Amino acid sequence: MQDLMEKVVSLAKRRGFVFPGSEIYGGLAGVYDYGPFGVALKNNIKQLWWRMFVERRDDMYGVDAAILMNSKVWEASGHVAGFSDPLVECEKCRRRFRADHLTDPSACPECGSALSEPRQFNMMFKTHVGASEDEAASVYLRPETAGGIFANFKNVVDALHPKLPFGIAQIGKAFRNEIAPRDFIFRLRELEQMEVEYFVREGDWERAFEEWRVVMHEFATAVGLPERMVHELAVPTEDLAHYSTRTIDFEFDYPFGRKELWGLAYRTNFDLSTHEKGSGVDLKYMDEEMKTKIVPHVIEPSLGVDRTVLAALVAAYREDDLGGEKRVYLALSPKIAPVKAAVSPLLKNKPELVEHARQVYRTLKKDIPQIMWDDNGNIGKRYRRQDEIGTPFCITIDFDTLGETPKLKDTVTLRDRDSGEQERVPIAELFGRIRSVL
Ligand code: ATP
Repeated sequence: MQDLMEKVVSLAKRRGFVFPGSEIYGGLAGVYDYGPFGVALKNNIKQLWWRMFVERRDDMYGVDAAILMNSKVWEASGHVAGFSDPLVECEKCRRRFRADHLTDPSACPECGSALSEPRQFNMMFKTHVGASEDEAASVYLRPETAGGIFANFKNVVDALHPKLPFGIAQIGKAFRNEIAPRDFIFRLRELEQMEVEYFVREGDWERAFEEWRVVMHEFATAVGLPERMVHELAVPTEDLAHYSTRTIDFEFDYPFGRKELWGLAYRTNFDLSTHEKGSGVDLKYMDEEMKTKIVPHVIEPSLGVDRTVLAALVAAYREDDLGGEKRVYLALSPKIAPVKAAVSPLLKNKPELVEHARQVYRTLKKDIPQIMWDDNGNIGKRYRRQDEIGTPFCITIDFDTLGETPKLKDTVTLRDRDSGEQERVPIAELFGRIRSVL
């Protein structure tokens, strides 16, 4: 299975999905850059999430808060005191590990020597605002996007007067100084999250929890994660945060094991209460129905963008024999595939074919922006390349399109990524065919 991971990492680099961060300078641990097809894939995932978690509902509001926030936000939320992992260091080779990730917490997994006693290591990145370097000017890069949502709760309520239950959503970068970043884009130091804080009356939390649980499964299906690879793990009571009474981890079968993909938590009214105390600002909500002021309770679906990208790549990776030739392809859901269809002239040195193909390309691209022009190499090479980036359709314009065989005039070959089969399709039907899978 580890072999599969190597293949996915190699394809991601070779085809321009994901590159090691700062690679020409030797890299930076826990940091990756997204290349042209990676950014398209990631944007498609984020857009799909935004559509399913925000736009298709009428009780959701979006924000885009700053990454830098007043440090008091993280003092109130408990991150300054407690957002830490237990760190142990090997007394001989000096390698560092997360104590809770070791099977034998007394011996170094690399060299077998003794390990130090665990100490709590805070994972927030600290920096300074302004010219002063004193403590008062220090700020943190946000370790999760949720902070910016809670800090804007009152602003959203005052500006839009939403009725309970309602939620606020945000997509954005978060930073965690992970002790041991690993497994490609699974455990990063700079990551991206898609989070919802859904505010409810206390008595409503279970219904809302179930509702979001269903939405998360729908989203897994929409990004092409097979049901058999996604598992729910009810976090045992002793591992729950002190304020939470229920949390489910959505786990995924990565090549390196079954690990957390996303989380869904019931957070009681802990967050708004602590921010009310911390800021001294009244964050209560006037519940017109109950005729009283309340501090709403919260259900939080929290999804990592990068872990979703990795799961989608792993789930889509395929090798098969097509016409006696080995090939690799990504069976990505067309909804998230970075390119929906590639348009090619059969030969690139025949101006009449090129001109006709350009016309087809321009017409399709007007309504489906993720259409790609591809005249690199011969047609076989193009198919192999498009298979590897997960393009559902390849469209080829040949002499029959121009009318060499009169009954085939104005038709093209449409090649299906998964089966490799080709069929003749009238140009006028191309748009409908592509749209139907999106
Ligand atoms: P883990 O137990 O794997 O460290 P966590 O429980 O600390 O994760 P949360 O704080 O619940 O994670 O964060 C919400 C989501 O953000 C996770 O489900 C995951 O998708 C994503 N995430 C968290 N930490 C990282 C990371 N270091 N790299 C990439 N994604 C992450």
